[in-house]
Amino acid sequence: MRIGLGHDTHRLVEGRPLILGGVRLEHRRGLLGHSDADVVLHALTDALLGAAGWGDIGDAFPDTDPAYRDCDSSRFVREAAARLRQAGWRVVNVDIVIFAEEPRLGPVKEEIRANLARLLEISPDSVNVKAKTGEKVGHIGRAEAIGCQVVALIDDQRP
Ligand code: MG
Repeated sequence: MRIGLGHDTHRLVEGRPLILGGVRLEHRRGLLGHSDADVVLHALTDALLGAAGWGDIGDAFPDTDPAYRDCDSSRFVREAAARLRQAGWRVVNVDIVIFAEEPRLGPVKEEIRANLARLLEISPDSVNVKAKTGEKVGHIGRAEAIGCQVVALIDDQRP
């Protein structure tokens, strides 16, 4: 078994949709970035790649590539998970912390969990989603950004 750690932060700005864990949320601001700037999917991708020792999301999916401009970040998770499966790895579980002062994520945590389980092709029991505010301090607490941390455990399925 091996573990991987992922982290990401994006700035909250006017005029962008807010998408977290592949779920579109109703909010007056969204995250700025080259792709759809989904911090949850980016941190998850990094955790998966890290567990396998495959560098980071920037190595795998360069943000200089126009193919990824405004793209749905679900493809990063799906592709990373597919590469793991092809190499003989199984995702055992992932644990996720989303750092956001706004909007409140309690009502959407289960929807995000179900969506991530679908993308990873694992049971929702194996995906845990937590939400934390920034207690009004720092870039998270001032609602200037949303961040995410993920740990992923993978298991070698090769005989
Ligand atoms: Mg990112």
